[in-house]
Amino acid sequence: MQKIYNKPESNPRLTIDLDALHKNARHLIGMTGGGLIAVVKNDAYHFGLERAVETFYQAGVRFFATTSLRDSIRIRDLYDDVDIFMLNPCRDFDSLRDYSITATLASLDFLRENKDSMHDISYHLEWAGQMRRSGCRSKKEVLETIRLAKESNIKLDGIWTHFSWADEFDQENSYEKEKSDWLDILESAQKIHKFKVVQAQNSASLQRDGLLDNHSHARVGISLYGCPPYKGADLTNNHHALTLSGSIISIKDLEIGESIGYCSSFKADKKSRVGVINIGYGDGLLRKRVMGHDVLINGRRYPLVSMMMSHTIVLLNEDDNSVKVGDQAIFYGQDIPVYEYTFKGVGANSEQISPLNFQTLDLIYLPVKNRL
Ligand SMILES: *Cc1c(COP(=O)(O)O)cnc(C)c1O
Repeated sequence: MQKIYNKPESNPRLTIDLDALHKNARHLIGMTGGGLIAVVKNDAYHFGLERAVETFYQAGVRFFATTSLRDSIRIRDLYDDVDIFMLNPCRDFDSLRDYSITATLASLDFLRENKDSMHDISYHLEWAGQMRRSGCRSKKEVLETIRLAKESNIKLDGIWTHFSWADEFDQENSYEKEKSDWLDILESAQKIHKFKVVQAQNSASLQRDGLLDNHSHARVGISLYGCPPYKGADLTNNHHALTLSGSIISIKDLEIGESIGYCSSFKADKKSRVGVINIGYGDGLLRKRVMGHDVLINGRRYPLVSMMMSHTIVLLNEDDNSVKVGDQAIFYGQDIPVYEYTFKGVGANSEQISPLNFQTLDLIYLPVKNRL
C-alpha cells in the first residue's frame, strides 16, 4: 500500500481519472455503433492495463487489442467473455488456442509455414498497406492467402489493416491514397470470403471519417486516453484523463548574474525570483516538455527554465508574492493538457505519458462515477 501524505509538498503525484476513460469509451462505443476495439498495448498507454481494461469493460467494451501475448493472457485472466486481438504475428499456437486469443494472419508465407498448427484459432487477415510492419503486400497475395486458408480449414474470421498516414495531413494526401488502396483490397477479398470482422481505423481515422462503410469495428487507442489524435480534432467529447503535479519546495531571489541548477543552467540577466519544484526527469518528465515551456500554478502559466533529476526551476515574477512554498505546480491536467505539448512538438502523446515513473510518483486513481 502506498501511503499518501497530506502535506502537499510531500511528493509529486500522478492522478489518473478512470471516469474520463469511462466517458471516452462510452462516446467511442456510440461512434462505432458498438464496434469499438480498445487498444491497450504498452500497459494501456501507461494508464495501467488492469485498471484500464476493467474501466473499458464497465463502459461496455468487449473487444481488446494489444501487441503482446503476455498482455493478451493478462486480459483473458480478467474476463472470459471478451475478444482479444493480438496485433503482432504469433507462433505460440498452443497459447493462442488455450486462451482463445484472436491472431493476425500476417502473410502467405506465414500460412504456408504454419498451416498445420493453426487449427481452432480465430484469424484476421492483415493487409500491410503503407505501414509494412507485417501483412500481405499485394492483392494477389491477399486472395491466395484467403484461398489457401479456406482450403486448409483455417478460421478466417476477420480482415484488418493499419493506416500509417491517418494522423497526418500532408500535401499529397497520402491517407486518402492508402485508404482507397485498402477499400479496393477489401472489396476484392469480400467477394471470395465473408468476414465477420472488418477493422482498419485508429483514433485519427475514426475521427476523420466516422466508421467506414463495410467496417464492423475501429481499433482505437489514444482517443480513449483523452488525447485528440491531431491538431484541430473535435474536443467536444474528449475527456483529459491525467494530472501530473509537483509542488514548490522553495523560492529564491537571484541577483543579476546569479545562477541556479547544475553548471548554472539558468542565469539571471535581471533580478529574478525562481521556484524550485520537486519533480524532475527522474520522475519521467521529458526535458523537451520542460525547456522552453511552462507550468500552471494557481491558474497562471509560468516559464520553466531549468531541469534536474528530481527538481525543476520555474521563473516567477520578481515583485509577485502570490506563489508560495507548498503551492501545486501542474505540468499536465485539464487546463494544461498533454496534447498541447504534442502540438508544440514535444513528442507524441504516448511518448510523453509512457515514461512517467510509477515508482517515484504518488499514483492516484479516481474511480468511475456513474457505473452502468
Ligand atoms: C497503436 C495502434 C492502434 C491505435 O492507434 P491510436 O492512434 O492510438 O488510436 C491501432 N492499431 C494498431 C495496429 C496500433 O498499433
